[in-house]
Amino acid sequence: MLYSKTFVELEIFYQEIMNDDLTKQYSRFESYVVGLFQRRNEWALCLRQSLITRGQNTNNICEAGVKIVKDTILDRTRAYSPVQLFFFIVNDLEKFYEMKLLDIAANRPAQYLKKKCILTESQKEHLEFKDLESTYEVKNNHKNTLYHVDLDLGICSCPEDCTGKPCKHQIFVASSLNVDLKLCLPTNEETRKALHIIATGSSEIENGWYGSILKQPQSISVNTENKILV
Ligand SMILES: [Zn+2]
Repeated sequence: MLYSKTFVELEIFYQEIMNDDLTKQYSRFESYVVGLFQRRNEWALCLRQSLITRGQNTNNICEAGVKIVKDTILDRTRAYSPVQLFFFIVNDLEKFYEMKLLDIAANRPAQYLKKKCILTESQKEHLEFKDLESTYEVKNNHKNTLYHVDLDLGICSCPEDCTGKPCKHQIFVASSLNVDLKLCLPTNEETRKALHIIATGSSEIENGWYGSILKQPQSISVNTENKILV
């Protein structure tokens, strides 16, 4: 029910559950499902497509944060006292995020971020885009699909990106224009410097330290209120 692609499909799954013999044996479960279905607008993904959730339908960022504290900072052991726990959070956790930010600024991101945010040559192979002034038209010659990308809003008309999640079409246009998408890894010197300042608190950065040795970045700015993945 959660992953139903359309409202009709959701209805069909609901009716299947309600008509199931096993469900009829357990009246409390039956009433639980009825209650859940009444609140379907809150959880069914097909009814939440107009929300710009950037592909995050759950609070897994918070959960991942707690996992880092437990696994990486505390190494799965209990702190001796609340004071020690506080010490770990303000010192070790701070250092952990500082290191992550500096890795991203220096173009050494974790493998999972590279996979998510960088397109391979084979992914780009059949894509081409056309500038329509305020938006871009992205065509896939292999799959014969056509989608529209708005870099200012950080959205695309493809099914994967209807909630504002960075998709390959957005990444393709942004990387071709050397525009920093901000939903993904930084591609220009300006954003890398901003990450350095956040991580270290110091704006004393040698000129060209985060500059590209391959090409001169253009100073195209895209107004998005999106977050940078860490
Ligand atoms: Zn897309």
